[in-house]
Amino acid sequence: MPISDRLLLGPGPSNPYPEAVAALARPMLGHMDPEFIAIMDETMARLRTVFRTDNALTFPVSGTGSAGMEACFVNLVEAGDTVIVGVNGVFGERMCEVARRCGADIVRVDEEWGLPLDPQRLLDAQREHPHARLLAVVHAETSTGVENDVAPLAALRDTNTLLLVDTVTSLGGIPVEIDEWGVDAGYSGTQKCLGVPPGLSPVTFSPRAVDRVQTRALPPQSWYLDLGLIGDYVGGARKYHHTAPTAMIVALHAGLGAVLDEGLDAAWARHRAVGMRLQDGLVDLGWTLIAEEGHRLPQLTSVALPTGRDEAVLRKALLTEYGIEVGGGLGEFAGKAWRI
Ligand SMILES: *Cc1c(COP(=O)(O)O)cnc(C)c1O
Repeated sequence: MPISDRLLLGPGPSNPYPEAVAALARPMLGHMDPEFIAIMDETMARLRTVFRTDNALTFPVSGTGSAGMEACFVNLVEAGDTVIVGVNGVFGERMCEVARRCGADIVRVDEEWGLPLDPQRLLDAQREHPHARLLAVVHAETSTGVENDVAPLAALRDTNTLLLVDTVTSLGGIPVEIDEWGVDAGYSGTQKCLGVPPGLSPVTFSPRAVDRVQTRALPPQSWYLDLGLIGDYVGGARKYHHTAPTAMIVALHAGLGAVLDEGLDAAWARHRAVGMRLQDGLVDLGWTLIAEEGHRLPQLTSVALPTGRDEAVLRKALLTEYGIEVGGGLGEFAGKAWRI
């Protein structure tokens, strides 16, 4: 069956780097092959560079971004724990649902869609619930195009509440500072700003998070995503747990190589420049940006169409006539907006 060559301008997958595509055609390696282990080690080192962390436990989870989300919650949360979640879009909602399935009592800090979360309100919620196990926020809310400010949450370092951050749409697109911001657990995805096909979720866990996992009363409900068991493979012991998706990891290794060759500062500047140009152009055309000014993501623009325009018809024409994919609105913006 023929496959068209699309320009993928939606919220992901994005077009991968040529280096990542070429890597997928390289000879297949087994997951215990010393050549593969060397690539895995270097991939983990590259992920530490991109996440700006020294965390030893930094590796790609087998699965997309949501698998990384699930890995964080299922390992860090025990039934009956209190979990504080900032919610200003679809992915904050998803965090609540995943935490709920882990048996957590959820404390929501809601904000209107299109506005950023107020870090002070999150810190106040922690002060009201000092025993909370975890405070979770989405850094780049892909449903609205809003950046949530994570840096002030470094104050959680002085509490017993761990900080969990979703960096699926931010990693590679805007600065992410895992160590500087005191992030205890972070997860991302390969297909958004890292330029690699979907299928892996880079994650990182601080020593404090690892300690929390090791002192759980019961093992996590998920065997597949059990950090202790996976750690025996990605760490020193190389003990078989599940078959590592070797071809995807070779592709991630190559994609991270492209990101680091460009340099993180240069990549962020590029996203900023093209994002601003797109947003200015859309405003000139009479479209309305959804995210509040000052908190707009350059790498993900969420924009409402002028009234009277049928977004689905236009979006389909863009795909079939021009080969360009953009995303439709999610949640309350369905039928009204695009995500580019
Ligand atoms: C895309 C996305 C996810 C989910 O990732 P999948 O790869 O679709 O599983 C989670 N969080 C955010 C912010 C996202 O943009």
